[in-house]
Amino acid sequence: MAAMHEAPGAATAGTTARAAPEAYDTQALQRLDSAHYLHPFTDHAQLRARGGARVMVRGDGIYLWDSDGKRVIDGMSGLWCVNVGYGRDSIADAMHRQATTLPFYNSFFNTTNVPAVRLAALLAELAPPQFRHVFFTTSGSEANDTVMRMVRRYWDVMGQPQRDVIVSRHNAYHGSTMAGASLGGMAGMHAQGGLPIPGIVHIGQPSYAEHGQGMSEAEFGIKAAGWLEEKILELGPGKVAAFIGEPVQGAGGVIIPPPTYWPEIGRICDKYGVLLVSDEVICGFGRLGRWFGCELMGATPDLISFAKGVTSGYVPLGGVLVAERVAQVLIEKGGDFNHGFTYSGHPVACAAALENIRILRDERLVERVAQETGPYLKAGFADLTSHPLVGHAETCGMVAGLDLVRRKGSSVHDGERFDPSLAVGMVCRGHMFDNGVIMRAVGERMIVAPPLVMTRAQIDEMLERIRFCLDLTHADLRARGWVD
Ligand SMILES: *Cc1c(COP(=O)(O)O)cnc(C)c1O
Repeated sequence: MAAMHEAPGAATAGTTARAAPEAYDTQALQRLDSAHYLHPFTDHAQLRARGGARVMVRGDGIYLWDSDGKRVIDGMSGLWCVNVGYGRDSIADAMHRQATTLPFYNSFFNTTNVPAVRLAALLAELAPPQFRHVFFTTSGSEANDTVMRMVRRYWDVMGQPQRDVIVSRHNAYHGSTMAGASLGGMAGMHAQGGLPIPGIVHIGQPSYAEHGQGMSEAEFGIKAAGWLEEKILELGPGKVAAFIGEPVQGAGGVIIPPPTYWPEIGRICDKYGVLLVSDEVICGFGRLGRWFGCELMGATPDLISFAKGVTSGYVPLGGVLVAERVAQVLIEKGGDFNHGFTYSGHPVACAAALENIRILRDERLVERVAQETGPYLKAGFADLTSHPLVGHAETCGMVAGLDLVRRKGSSVHDGERFDPSLAVGMVCRGHMFDNGVIMRAVGERMIVAPPLVMTRAQIDEMLERIRFCLDLTHADLRARGWVD
């Protein structure tokens, strides 16, 4: 029991004591895992070579425990989703109450349910003013599939069925279904299964480090948005249905666009009548210190896809917020929209979302990210650039990324990078994972997106861990002869 509450700070607020931790036979679990469980995005030969998967058994606040009783700081909020932290009994209680009252009913045949109605109304209140309607899904991928079908249906109803192309960006992540992976711009995903599907094209990502040499950030933002206009003109303005983008690209490596980018994207979409879609699956529900990331970026989208943070991952739920400009066309003139999921508006998931949003509001977590913890994380990551391996670091709200470099330069555009084939990011990730902090590696970029409940003291604790693990990585790379 003592081990459970070694956590400093307030992250355990709202949780109650549980029974003493069960003892697990890690190797037996790993053998069963290896024998039967096909993991997502996993090279199983590599997983076997490293001796099997780590078995996570418990979470509380910002911490996880594995089956050997080792504690780690979850720098990634699970997968960018556990915004209110682990161990929130009130969410479990809300789900339990709903499951014992009405575990499921569909919203198809002129029926609805209480949590779905209440959540739809609450989301309309929280979202930017153009939104009053929501379509529910079970995941972010399904939300983006819905976006694709909905914008095409909208243009059909508008009498412009030839407007069917959706513009996205290289290195975007929009999910893993056929449409989600096609909308995304991940080369590795497109290389398998014959993707992208037709009607989706990609432009460059607004990465100043990759494409901005010789320009100011502000100039680069305008230039990168201009790629959208070039693509629209190339395809023919009457062909383009929508543009989709994440306010800050998450899985692509925390790519934070210059402040000039999104307003210029909005101007171009307006000019050509192209619908603007903000994929807020990561950036929504407080991650960037606003309820929705587009509010920080100065964009006015017509559709918002969301998932992850809406329930803090306690149970799957996603959806699409639909601006009145689109919703009224579908409602007034669209007839039947032949699309939906068995679990659209699932009552247990919606009950979890309602309680999750109550916590975000009552604990003022969104404001805290904007005013307190976001700036504190920014200062902490700026300090990390004094480390010999860290070339550059940036943050936005509670997401952050740093670049591992062989030799530092005077800006993001010089210095010496590592040969990508060395997979230095994975070496670093291994040291982090083995030493109590979860960071994700995207190439040589190390990223975090911690739970929004992380306190300043816990940010210090995380940064201390990160610095320690960067030292281990440095020593390791030196021993391999990869750095001087
Ligand atoms: C995770 C993610 C998705 C996909 O969500 P799933 O729930 O995994 O289907 C879509 N868009 C973005 C930006 C994401 O980060």
